[in-house]
Amino acid sequence: MTYQYWNKEMETLERSALEAYQLTQLKAVVAQALRTSFYRERLSAVGIRSGEDIQNLEDLGRIPFTTKGDLRSGFPYGFLSIPKEEVVRLHASSGTTGTPTTIYFSKGDIRRWTSFVARSIYATGCTKTDVFQNMITYGLFTGGLGFHFGGEEVGMLVIPSGSGNTTRQFKLMQDFGTTVVHATPSFLLHVQAKMQEEGVRRDKLKLIRAFAGAEPYSEDTRTRIEELLTIDVYNSYGLSEMNGPGVAFECQAKNDLHLWEDGYLGEIVNPKTLEPVPDGETGELVLTCLCREATPILRYRTRDLSGFYTEPCPCGRTHRRLHRITGRTDDMLIINGVNLFPSQIEEVIMAMKEVGNNYLILVEKEGVLDRITVKTEVGPEVFMDDTRPLNTLKERIRKTLQASITINPRVELHQPGSLPVSEGKATRVLDQRPKR
Ligand code: ADP
Ligand code: ZN
Repeated sequence: MTYQYWNKEMETLERSALEAYQLTQLKAVVAQALRTSFYRERLSAVGIRSGEDIQNLEDLGRIPFTTKGDLRSGFPYGFLSIPKEEVVRLHASSGTTGTPTTIYFSKGDIRRWTSFVARSIYATGCTKTDVFQNMITYGLFTGGLGFHFGGEEVGMLVIPSGSGNTTRQFKLMQDFGTTVVHATPSFLLHVQAKMQEEGVRRDKLKLIRAFAGAEPYSEDTRTRIEELLTIDVYNSYGLSEMNGPGVAFECQAKNDLHLWEDGYLGEIVNPKTLEPVPDGETGELVLTCLCREATPILRYRTRDLSGFYTEPCPCGRTHRRLHRITGRTDDMLIINGVNLFPSQIEEVIMAMKEVGNNYLILVEKEGVLDRITVKTEVGPEVFMDDTRPLNTLKERIRKTLQASITINPRVELHQPGSLPVSEGKATRVLDQRPKR
C-alpha cells in the first residue's frame, strides 16, 4: 500500500526531533497559560513561573492535572488567555456528563486545528476529488465545523448535511456522488438499516469510506458497518477541550489511532493513583494541547480509557498510536458490586450476526438488587412472530453475555428500527436506579 501524508516532514519526524519540537511548544503553551489566573495560581504553587521553568519533557510531570470540574469552575472566561477581541469563535462540549465547557479560538487556533483535521482526513486516503458528506451535528459541537473546514482544506467538495433525516441524506449521496461520510457509528448503523428499509440500492451510491467517532464503539461494530455498507471505516477521536476532532485518527493501515503528537502531548495514567502506566497498558488518557493560544489547557484528564502501542505503524508515521477508546472512567457501572463497562456488552452482542444495529442497556433497582436488561434489536432476517427461535436467540445472547461479564442480564429483543436513535451521540445506558 502507498501511504500519503499531508505534512510528511512532521508526520514522519524522528522521535528525538519530535520531542524537541514538543518541548518548544510546551514552553510556549505554559507561558501562555500563565496569563490566566487559574494557571498562575496552580503553576506558581509548584514553582513554575515562566515557560523557561520547563526544561525538559519530564518537567511535564510537575504540572498539576486539569479536570473537567476545573474548566467548569472557570466558566465563562476563566481560561481565556488572549484579549477578547482576538477571539474569533467558541465551541462547547456536548455536555454528555454534565454542564458543558467552553473553548475559545483565535484565528491562528482555527488555522492550526483545521490543519490537524485535514491531516487526519488525508491520512485515510482522501483527496480533493472526494465528495464529503458531513452527517454530524453542526453548531456548538466541534464535530460539525471541525470536519467541515478540515474537509475544505483538503480540497474535497463538502456537503454540510448535518445529522438526522436519512431520506434526505440518501438523496444528497445520490445527487452529488458522495464518496466519504462522517458520522457517529450509531448513526451509520441507523443509515444502513434505513437504506435497506427504503430500498436504496447500494450500487447507486459511490461511498467508499467513513470517519466514525464521537462515541465509543467496538472493533466488531466497525466490521459490521464495513460489511453492511461495503466501505472502509476509520476511527476518529477528539474532544472539545483539545479543539475537537483531529486529535487522533486512523491511517490507511486502519490499525488504531495516531495521536498527532506535534499538537497534543499524551500520557496514560492510572485513574486512581494518577501514576503513569507502562506502554501498552490501559489507563486514562491525559492530554496537553500544544497548538492553541486562546484557551491553553495543560494535562487535561480526559477520563477516556486507552493505551499506547509500542510497535511502529506500517505507514511510517512516528506519532504513537492509541488503542481504540473503550469508554470513559465514569461510564463504569457497578452492578451488585461488579464493575461493568457498556463497551463489554457491545463487544459481545455486536459480534452476533442475528443481533441488529441498535441496543440499549437499562439498569434498575429491584428490591435491594441491581437489575440489568439488555434491549437489542434483531437483524432484518429474524422473524419477530416466530417465538421459538426468538427465545432460543434470547437465551443464547443471555448466556454469552453472562459468560463474558459474569452478570446475569435480562435480554429483550426488539424489531429492527424500534429502539430510539439519537442524532448526536448515542445514549447506550439508562440508569434508573435512585441516586444516593
Ligand atoms: P462531551 O464530553 O460532552 O461528550 P465532546 O463533544 O467534546 O464532549 O466529546 C468528546 C468525547 O467523546 C471524548 O472525550 C470521548 O469520550 C468521546 N469520543 C470522541 N471520539 C471518540 C472515539 N473515536 N471513540 C470513543 N470515544 C470517543
Ligand atoms: Zn499509521
